[in-house]
Amino acid sequence: MPSISFEFFPPKTEEQRAQLDRTTALLKPHAPDYVSVTFGAGGSTLSYTGETVARLHREHGLEVAPHLSCMGGTRQEIAALLDGYRAAGYRRLVALRGDLPSGMASPGDFRYAAELVRFIRAHSGDHFHVEVAAYPEIHPQAEDALADLKHFKAKVEAGADGAITQYFFNPDAYFRFVDDARRLGVAVPIVPGIMPIANFGQLKRFSDACGAEIPRWIAKRMQAHGDDAEAIRELGADVVAQLCRRLLDGGAPGLHFYTLNRARPTLAILDRLH
Ligand code: FAD
Repeated sequence: MPSISFEFFPPKTEEQRAQLDRTTALLKPHAPDYVSVTFGAGGSTLSYTGETVARLHREHGLEVAPHLSCMGGTRQEIAALLDGYRAAGYRRLVALRGDLPSGMASPGDFRYAAELVRFIRAHSGDHFHVEVAAYPEIHPQAEDALADLKHFKAKVEAGADGAITQYFFNPDAYFRFVDDARRLGVAVPIVPGIMPIANFGQLKRFSDACGAEIPRWIAKRMQAHGDDAEAIRELGADVVAQLCRRLLDGGAPGLHFYTLNRARPTLAILDRLH
């Protein structure tokens, strides 16, 4: 059975909280192995991640994986978060470097995610199942593809149990990345991150920022639909469901959905897969 997980961001208003509750109720019947909640660097959303995982765990009875990004954080701050998550009974984490928010001068005590993973293992032993990020289309700041892959390997050697990839629309990028990682001796599961397409303009902006490529054939077909949101959602669901099918058929161990706190685009894909 492939694993399935859903990623949420921490809501900040009552209205957003109610939306996440509705989304969770709609996605829960798909029996996720866990749900993860992103972490905003710079302190301001720190408490929201904790509050959100607590709500998903207590009120929805879900296994949770708070994201923990080390950029800007100190050892003491990270240790306090680890102790709090452990005391709350959580068993999973997604460990990231994060990005330095503009205006923040100091990167904090950690430079790279591998250092964070090493710290988590030193501080909390094997208590947490730790996922790290992987980039089939290469992280935008990497020197080159091989260097990026070696840095990924370093995170696994530091103690990561698995990886979730940045989203992509070209399955060959994923298969190639997994093959290369295996050749380097990386054995942990590498779960593809799946981005449902709901709002094409927003997706384009995201993709430019994080270095994910939108194939020309998808962009052209999306643009042909202009402002027809329903047609864009239908095409997006078809394209991404086909991607998921190819990934699973090719041996991907599961699917991690970037839900953006909305149920419909993810459900449209899951409906097509079943
Ligand atoms: P790293 O693995 O540290 O890599 C960052 C860059 O540094 C890469 O280019 C790598 O090649 C390079 N590098 C690594 N080690 C070295 C070294 N020793 N020497 C030189 N170069 C090195 N961001 C958030 O802020 N909050 C989130 O909740 C969040 N969730 C995410 C979830 C997933 C599944 C993914 C894929 C990304 C997520 N991100 C999140 C984004 C992530 O924080 C950024 O992509 C960030 O720029 C890199 O984080 P990382 O953990 O991959 O960093």
